[in-house]
Amino acid sequence: MTDALSYVSDNLTAIRESIAEAADKCGRSTEEIRIMAVTKTVAPEIVNRAVELGVTLLGENRVQEFLSKQDAYDRSAEVHFIGHLQTNKVKYIIEPMSMIQSVDSVKLAAEINRLASAHNKIMDILCEVNIGGEDSKSGIAPDGLAELLEAAASMENLRVRGLMTIPPPASGDIFLGRMEELYHKVKDSYSMDVLSMGMTHDYADAVRHGSTLVRIGTGLFGARDYSKK
Ligand SMILES: *Cc1c(COP(=O)(O)O)cnc(C)c1O
Repeated sequence: MTDALSYVSDNLTAIRESIAEAADKCGRSTEEIRIMAVTKTVAPEIVNRAVELGVTLLGENRVQEFLSKQDAYDRSAEVHFIGHLQTNKVKYIIEPMSMIQSVDSVKLAAEINRLASAHNKIMDILCEVNIGGEDSKSGIAPDGLAELLEAAASMENLRVRGLMTIPPPASGDIFLGRMEELYHKVKDSYSMDVLSMGMTHDYADAVRHGSTLVRIGTGLFGARDYSKK
């Protein structure tokens, strides 16, 4: 492939190889690990190249940006919301998204449930955990998780599929390990099957800590150019 977008193909090949290697080291199958392409600031034609190459899942951070790009996306990929979500924006994504990974309050869960019900839909959700306890990050504190899970699981139009986290940068794998523990503590009670953890800088470590879904932006599409967006 000699076209201008061949870097996406090269990057994806390298990511798949690193995942396979990390999985192999801990006796996991690569089939258990899904690759999400995180699309913030990336033009739809570049996102579509990743889809052509076999990426089946896109991750969106910003409602506004998604709305401006969605018509240009290849429809064969599934889309999950992964950014901070205000309750007044849920209405825009309830139909096009198949999962909301960033549920971090009972109030947000209740609003998603209300709108999912109005759309006759069962919405898959992940609860986002602020595993590093950082003030700057969204996500529920680990000690509030039990209450959020219980509340969300009782809502008829939600299906709690698992947990998501963004650990503090440059923290090694301490928080990946804590997340793995936390996931295993609650997984069976809620029949969870998704641990969304790992980004460009730590996805191989995340795989070794049980991640089932890695969210990759810069490692796939290159450095983000915010000036264009
Ligand atoms: C931007 C983003 C990613 C991807 O980050 P990279 O370091 O570019 O791979 C993953 N998850 C979330 C929630 C993000 O906002």
